[in-house]
Amino acid sequence: MADLVLFGDVLTMDESLPQATAVAVADGRILAVGSDADVAPHIGPATVVHDVGDGCILPGFIEAHGHPLNEAVVLGEPVVDIRPVTIADADGVLAAIERAVAECGPEGALLNGWDPLLQKGLPEPTLQWLDGISPAAPLVILHNSGHAAYFNSAAAVAAGITRDTPDPEGAKFGRDDAGELDGVAYEMAAVLAVAGRVLSLDPAGFPALLAAECARMNAAGVTTVSEMAFDPAMRPALAAAVEAGVLTTRLRLYEMSDVSRASDVEPGAGDDLVRQVGIKIWSDGSPWIGNIALSFPYLDTPATRALGMACSHGHANYTGKQIREISTPYFDRGWQIACHAHGDEAITMVLDAWEKMLGDDPRPDHRLRLEHVGAMRPDQFARAAALGVTCSLFVDHLYYWGDVLVDDLFGSDHGGHWAAAGSALAAGHRISFHNDGPVTPTNPIRNIADAVTRRSRSGHVLAPDERIPVQAALRAQTVDAAWQLFSEDSIGTLVPGSHADLVVLSANPLTVEPDELENLEVRATVFAGRAVFGSL
Ligand SMILES: [Zn+2]
Repeated sequence: MADLVLFGDVLTMDESLPQATAVAVADGRILAVGSDADVAPHIGPATVVHDVGDGCILPGFIEAHGHPLNEAVVLGEPVVDIRPVTIADADGVLAAIERAVAECGPEGALLNGWDPLLQKGLPEPTLQWLDGISPAAPLVILHNSGHAAYFNSAAAVAAGITRDTPDPEGAKFGRDDAGELDGVAYEMAAVLAVAGRVLSLDPAGFPALLAAECARMNAAGVTTVSEMAFDPAMRPALAAAVEAGVLTTRLRLYEMSDVSRASDVEPGAGDDLVRQVGIKIWSDGSPWIGNIALSFPYLDTPATRALGMACSHGHANYTGKQIREISTPYFDRGWQIACHAHGDEAITMVLDAWEKMLGDDPRPDHRLRLEHVGAMRPDQFARAAALGVTCSLFVDHLYYWGDVLVDDLFGSDHGGHWAAAGSALAAGHRISFHNDGPVTPTNPIRNIADAVTRRSRSGHVLAPDERIPVQAALRAQTVDAAWQLFSEDSIGTLVPGSHADLVVLSANPLTVEPDELENLEVRATVFAGRAVFGSL
């Protein structure tokens, strides 16, 4: 007998039975899906029965590229949230920085979310400026992208970084002409060297932080999220959180590449709740900082001039040879690899490297991943598809930075075609979408609306030919995201035997007007058969 039966519109995301009117759950799994008559025999005296009315039942959403373990810390105490989604303007950001410095103790202040392209009017965060604000206590400000950190002299001392500190592989510390640190850390390894002291996971406090993070995920309808910057040092804190029973989302872990360490576990280690599925590499950086590798230049505009990237083609973090040297040892051991790549030059470099690697070591169904792919071209989507390389698109860029992409950075052609989901589908890809939290708030409904409408915050539609159908957008947050995480046998569709992870939306996304998609609400989220958000 079923523990729970829900009646209403059901979008199963399973092609053999796409739509149904009832779903039955038992012991945390889907027991039956079909018509009311199909499911009725599973209703017993102890079965809880709900009719969702005009709501719509779907598989729980899957965030294929997130950072929940990092976000749990970054959105908790003592980190101060200055993201553009929290503080819209420069004056508010500057006031928050001054307040944080005034209130912090000798351990200093850490703020996350600096973005001068959206918070227009922010000053250049020079070392002199940072030291002026906080002469004694460490001050670190993380760029909203996570790809840079600005730190004062006291923070350098606290982190043990000096002019003699070598640049980590694939990352660097900014230096002046005399070789002195200039207070900027670029890319993950350098950012973590500066901020890792505060961002490291403490097993004692972490379960509560992760519980709050899971609540944020569940409120957005998310029941599985990947951590794309997993560090094995996080294991004790994660184990403490699992032990405490706070996890109400499944986690799929991608370990930050470190060839000297390789990975100390085997691919797929873990269980359906927490599983390590891949390795993460960053081939280039952030379009908002200027360190992505492009075949075309940034425009010459006041915004690009202020950030020192006018007419620049940007650059990659590695050479193609290095990408191959990092990828191959992991790939040979059976790991899936996910590579951050925004610029089209970076994408070519990674595809070249992986084509050689696959030539030496062919493997069917490897699902090598490219992440974000902002400037990926139609011919590159076709080439990736032919290699079996899959793509996760950051379509929420279109909403928050759509106007910046076109007006400030790249113009209507390159900027307008950013995150070209239509071209990806035309090339035959199974794609996923993501918010890369905390870069933008995890919000699959917004991503679906972004991909269907390609509308920016100001209402401009970017490259309408790249818009995709609602059904395809839903797949990118459910079944195809599950597939990218090698988890399609247990999540992402509502079929008998799969985990009873599901979301109840306020209406059927296939029947609302495209412009109304963004107004859909998550009424309830069910995780392993248990309501973890809202009410059924
Ligand atoms: Zn990321």
